[in-house]
Amino acid sequence: MTTQSSDPILQLKVVETEALICTKCDLAEGRTQVVFGAGNPQADVLFVGEAPGQREDEQGVPFVGPSGRLLEELLAEIDLTRDAVYITNVVKCRPPGNRDPRPHEIDACKAYLRTQLELIDPAVVVTLGNFSTKLVLRTEVGITKLRGMAYEWWGRYLVPTFHPAAALRGRGQVLEDMRYDFSLVRDVLDGNLATDTGIEEETPPPQPADDPQQLGLFGQ
Ligand code: SF4
Repeated sequence: MTTQSSDPILQLKVVETEALICTKCDLAEGRTQVVFGAGNPQADVLFVGEAPGQREDEQGVPFVGPSGRLLEELLAEIDLTRDAVYITNVVKCRPPGNRDPRPHEIDACKAYLRTQLELIDPAVVVTLGNFSTKLVLRTEVGITKLRGMAYEWWGRYLVPTFHPAAALRGRGQVLEDMRYDFSLVRDVLDGNLATDTGIEEETPPPQPADDPQQLGLFGQ
């Protein structure tokens, strides 16, 4: 991966250009186009979903369609817009039939997400859904138990929440839970986290491995 410039915005553009022609895993065969990510390359908030779906694959943009519209609604409620944040996925190409990405595909693709994290350097990472949360936090604990808190995570905060598609299926309580999780993002950005996170001393957040390099996401 080529990132020789000292300008992180330019570096991100270079990496995106490389990714758009990537054939490092077999997802390249079925995709229409690579969905690298979209938004502000200097965003304070980075959203990470699972993988592009059909619409995303067709348009080359993450989170379009009903899930994207709900994400935009939730962002508006905390005074953010899609253009103010950065949105990406764990893998950048659509798995056939929208199946879950496989371990070797995640391994092949994770350097892109790692580079996006390093170059965008957000204050908050929001994982959308079980899949990206488990990968990023390296835990088998489900999203229902993990959400509702902001975790300190390698010098920034991580807020796990449901995937918008889950709220669209279940609306009601799932949507309310997402609203709460998004309010945590706002609290982090406003420096109000200490008074309002709900972090409980007796519930230590799941911590990644001792060394970032041992994290699946950060491993070579
Ligand atoms: S999923 Fe990632 S590693 Fe696989 S071809 Fe697409 S960009 Fe490359």
